[in-house]
Amino acid sequence: MIQEFFKPQTVAEAVTLKEKYRDEAVFMAGGTDVNCRDASSAVEKVIGIEQLALNAISETDKAVLIGAGVTIQDLIDSPKVPEQLSKAAAHFVNRNIRNMATIGGNIASNNSTSNLIPILVALDAELKLAGSDTPVSVYEYITREMSRLIESIRILSENLEKPYGIRKFSHTANDISVIVAAVTLNIRNEIVSNVRVAAGGVSKHVMRLKELENKLEGNKLPAGTEIEDTVNKAVSPLKDIRGGVRFKKYLAGVLVSDCIYDAQTGIEKRDAK
Ligand SMILES: Cc1cc2nc3c(=O)[nH]c(=O)nc-3n(C[C@H](O)[C@H](O)[C@H](O)COP(=O)(O)OP(=O)(O)OC[C@H]3O[C@@H](n4cnc5c(N)ncnc54)[C@H](O)[C@@H]3O)c2cc1C
Repeated sequence: MIQEFFKPQTVAEAVTLKEKYRDEAVFMAGGTDVNCRDASSAVEKVIGIEQLALNAISETDKAVLIGAGVTIQDLIDSPKVPEQLSKAAAHFVNRNIRNMATIGGNIASNNSTSNLIPILVALDAELKLAGSDTPVSVYEYITREMSRLIESIRILSENLEKPYGIRKFSHTANDISVIVAAVTLNIRNEIVSNVRVAAGGVSKHVMRLKELENKLEGNKLPAGTEIEDTVNKAVSPLKDIRGGVRFKKYLAGVLVSDCIYDAQTGIEKRDAK
């Protein structure tokens, strides 16, 4: 149960508190995860960060910068947010959660079935961490299970120009996703390049499917069944209340294959203009 709640007025103060209490304290933004912890992972000290105003969204011709405190609903509503992120945000369960949950909290929660992390990984999104000028990729942050304070997320315009696909499967519209997938790639003269494939719900964290990326890079797109087969072999989902291992492997293959199809269709539409 929460015993102490700190309300730092600056990012530096928040970082100092975290350095002081380390694993005894967690940051809290929207609180949708922190307030749902069971007794085994509950914390006694919470460092509230809502008042730090990390909720600006800005664009330059080179990149989009999204504050860590931007809510999931803002990702849908703000015209400055790239459509890739708005679409992924719309996959969240319901408006109550979307109004409170933040993009920074979503990344730091590092849930395997996050609706945002796969597309952020596929876009090579980078994080500005408090007290550091060296950007860290979202993928590095989640795979190294970092817990440093995220100030903002930066996505380069050149990555936003890549055709993409985002898919998810959930049993009902108001249930968390079972499998989430996102792909970005370029295709020129039928040859695939600069491909990123990310999937959630298939391992402890969202993972990049590097075997598939290597198979696609520099080659023509293979048949959908070959893509599904490669995904099937690369992933190790766990059986749980939402599905068994074979079901999830099958879903992952189909969703990744659909994402690639969506990206390819995006290219065809763009080239037809
Ligand atoms: C009923 C319910 C439904 C949900 N549905 C979905 C869904 O559909 N899709 C989905 O992806 N997720 C879902 N979630 C999970 C959760 O809502 C999201 O992960 C959400 O984005 C977390 O954001 P938050 O601001 O509420 O995080 P908090 O609860 O405030 O924090 C979560 C974790 O992130 C850390 N943290 C927060 N902000 C930062 C920061 N700026 N820098 C570093 N660490 C930080 C905290 O210390 C904590 O460890 C759901 C949760 C619940 C309870």
